[in-house]
Amino acid sequence: MLNCFCDKKKENKHYFERFFFSFFSDMPQTGYCTDVTCNKELTELYECHCCSWLICLKHLLEHVEISKRDKKIQLDTIRNELISISYTLESIVERKINEIETEKQLINQAKTIIDKTGHTIEEIQLILEEINQAILSNRKGKETFE
Ligand SMILES: [Zn+2]
Ligand SMILES: [Zn+2]
Repeated sequence: MLNCFCDKKKENKHYFERFFFSFFSDMPQTGYCTDVTCNKELTELYECHCCSWLICLKHLLEHVEISKRDKKIQLDTIRNELISISYTLESIVERKINEIETEKQLINQAKTIIDKTGHTIEEIQLILEEINQAILSNRKGKETFE
């Protein structure tokens, strides 16, 4: 995109300046570029919208490029954060669904025992303990979330 504008500059300097005037409120003034690496003589200066320094057109373009790159890094970072956090929540939900499935099975087993005679005390004791464990771990889970 910037290269495209650079080409335009060669053709029509005024078009290029107008483009920048629309982005940077201050009209250019003549002076020395405040960038330490700049070795330009007196030149037209522009106020950069990211750092408010008065700099030459070459350095203004550099600042625009750097600020675009920084935005991209920020965007990539926050996007990766979203991917990671969604994955974490997804595994929590999957674990909960598995737990609920197991608990539903326990309830069905209990119902079968309640509805039918002929089960031993040991069998009933076993399902009783498993259901108690499930209730306990649910209460514990609730406490940790609260
Ligand atoms: Zn700047
Ligand atoms: Zn400069």
